[in-house]
Amino acid sequence: MSDAELKTAARDLASLIRQSSHAVAFTGAGLSTESGIPDFRSPGGLWTQNKPIPFQAFMASREARTEAWRRKFVMDESFRSAAPGRGHRVLSAMARAGRLAGIITQNIDNLHQDSGVAADRLVELHGNGSYATCLACARRYELVWVRERFDVQGGTAPDCEACGGPVKSATISFGQAMPEKEMQRATRWTLESDLFICIGSSLVVYPAAGLPIAAKQNGARLVIVNREETPLDDIADLVVPAEIGPLLMAVATELGLGLDC
Ligand code: NAD
Repeated sequence: MSDAELKTAARDLASLIRQSSHAVAFTGAGLSTESGIPDFRSPGGLWTQNKPIPFQAFMASREARTEAWRRKFVMDESFRSAAPGRGHRVLSAMARAGRLAGIITQNIDNLHQDSGVAADRLVELHGNGSYATCLACARRYELVWVRERFDVQGGTAPDCEACGGPVKSATISFGQAMPEKEMQRATRWTLESDLFICIGSSLVVYPAAGLPIAAKQNGARLVIVNREETPLDDIADLVVPAEIGPLLMAVATELGLGLDC
């Protein structure tokens, strides 16, 4: 996309945002690639390196749980040093300026919170990877504790100290039930929205990808910002095949938003 095309797209998106009274952003892994966290489906993405371990497999064997934690420790190396990118900062500024009613994210990297988005403006559909919980009694564990136990036990996944249940990163795996309250809140925001802006998602992971469809069917305008095509491009009112960082910075300029974060 040329500079002129980017500017035109930013103007179009800013215009839709100005016309809207209840805009919702729906974000995916593509928002965080600028922060150095690989997405799932781009070339070289996490998916191409390691197929995810489904929930049933995690529950069925300690070997799978051990492998899941081993991968998580490796992945956390890049998560730990990651800071919010331009896209996160613009969305945060938009929320604070009242231009966004809320952000529904599929990301688990805590970067929306790190960019200053308040808890009541954010729904994490797939959980949060910055801590762990016992799947049996819901007790919370910090990752430092998991790492220590893992090492003390000679590289084996630890169990809950209280009840012996499996301890898992607080994220939603493939095959795991969606978090009920978050799904309800996301559905409510979706149906209240008059503008639904998808940013950096391949829109193939369900039920999350059902939200933009529901928004559109309910009369909202649908915008898709993604450098690759998505299966929902055909029903979108505006498709912007751009890099997220420069595009959202241009949108912020159009809206006159100061980026003080
Ligand atoms: P995905 O990997 O399936 O899709 C990301 C999309 O973003 C791709 O289509 C890619 O072309 C696009 N993209 C990447 N960088 C971009 C950029 N700078 N500008 C414009 N487009 C860009 O991600 P998804 O749809 O969110 O689904 C993956 C699942 O994996 C999610 O459920 C999420 O929970 C999880 N995940 C999360 C993270 C994270 O928290 N950062 C990282 C990887 C995977």
